[in-house]
Amino acid sequence: MDLESILFRQGFGSRRQCRSLIAEGRVAVGGSVCADANEDFPPDDLTFDVDGTPWRYRERAYLMLNKPAGYECSRDPQHHLSVFGLLPAQLATRGVQCVGRLDEDTTGLLLLSDDGQFVHAYTSPKRKVPKTYLATTRHALDERQLQALTDGVLLHGEKAPIAAAAVRMRDETQLEITVNEGRYHQVKRMIAAAGNRCDALHRERIGGLALPGTLTPGTWQWLDDEALRALR
Ligand code: URA
Repeated sequence: MDLESILFRQGFGSRRQCRSLIAEGRVAVGGSVCADANEDFPPDDLTFDVDGTPWRYRERAYLMLNKPAGYECSRDPQHHLSVFGLLPAQLATRGVQCVGRLDEDTTGLLLLSDDGQFVHAYTSPKRKVPKTYLATTRHALDERQLQALTDGVLLHGEKAPIAAAAVRMRDETQLEITVNEGRYHQVKRMIAAAGNRCDALHRERIGGLALPGTLTPGTWQWLDDEALRALR
């Protein structure tokens, strides 16, 4: 694949911008500057530098972000910063989107990808992907509330009660809760409907994929094959 197409597909700008980057000597392959936009390289796993920053060619982008509070899962945020500001600009340019949204004040595991089928599969209500959260509640949890969450609570605007797939009290005000749906403010609304209030929410796990303890808030990493398998 020619170098211009490689840069273009990885999100380094329009074709014209990619040609300029190359012509200006800002792109190196294998440590040597390549100023010829038409030079061909095998793209798979190709690493190259743009302005000295290394990048590896990936046909599709799959990544996870440890979302901090104060960020919106939108390219066009209304009141806060955008999670896309935490990623290299080329990922947003190539159309990476959030796999489901977390509220601005919710923290933790957020997946992003430019693979439309992947995004659809993991957000489709039919797929029922379990998502596990740690909720900090305003008031001490009690058995009645846990039972209500397990039996199902009726949320405003819903026709049928929604039940948690699993609940476990970690301590008086710390609730581990797994849900299979992704309704608007679902966990906060469920906790409110059970008679408590959610003061903080953190997503720990999606399917079999847990947020790694090494991924600090505001940082991201690629999903490797093992992580992608764990999701399934
Ligand atoms: N449930 C919520 O209430 N908020 C989130 O961000 C995610 C799940």
